[in-house]
Amino acid sequence: MADIKENLANVRKNIEDACKKVGRDVSEVTLITVSKTKPLSDLRIAYEEGSRDFGENKVQELVSKIDEMPSDVKWHLIGHLQRNKVKYIAGKVAMIHSVDSYRLAEEINVQAKKNSCVIPILIEINIAGEDTKFGIKPEEAEELIREISELENVKVSGLMTIAPNVANPEENRAYFKAMKDLFVDISSKNIDNVEMKVLSMGMTNDYTVAVEEGATMIRVGTGIFGARDYSK
Ligand SMILES: *Cc1c(COP(=O)(O)O)cnc(C)c1O
Repeated sequence: MADIKENLANVRKNIEDACKKVGRDVSEVTLITVSKTKPLSDLRIAYEEGSRDFGENKVQELVSKIDEMPSDVKWHLIGHLQRNKVKYIAGKVAMIHSVDSYRLAEEINVQAKKNSCVIPILIEINIAGEDTKFGIKPEEAEELIREISELENVKVSGLMTIAPNVANPEENRAYFKAMKDLFVDISSKNIDNVEMKVLSMGMTNDYTVAVEEGATMIRVGTGIFGARDYSK
């Protein structure tokens, strides 16, 4: 059994150390506790230890957990989202991290309007150009963001990436740097209705490098809850 309490403390310490190393304030970094496949009992331990931002990658699982957890939890949809499922999460999620098309943003806008809310979204970038990953090319980001910025009930709030699965996290440093450059570049355009404040990057294997390179949200699952079991 993983010691969730101890793991969380370690992750927080590592974030602090990474911030210190590069002169960032630790308050700039939000830890998203990625709880996919994990039972509510595990989520509750993390909650007791102070976790308030939880990440799930499947709509059905996210929705089923919402009602079972305290109402001050902020839920982040971090996995690929199909348009026909947006209606189940509109009005319930704090942020959608995985928007990679105008058509998806348009559907989020429709469902947000129905719920009289504005949904913050991140644009998913396939920074390493991997065939196996969702996300758009970096050079497509500005145009897509300009299109989405016309939609009243979605708010582009930043960028997200899932870096390659590498043995040594240093191998991802250049990708995190490229994400930060893109983030700064798009910020500098001052596009109406776009607020570049979130850079969501870094997972269990590489979050310290991501924090050093400017991540404002990191998404950690295994490092908190231990390995996932997909057999059930
Ligand atoms: C599962 C998942 C994570 C967390 O991965 P770990 O390696 O377990 O920390 C982060 N981001 C996304 C999009 C995920 O699907």
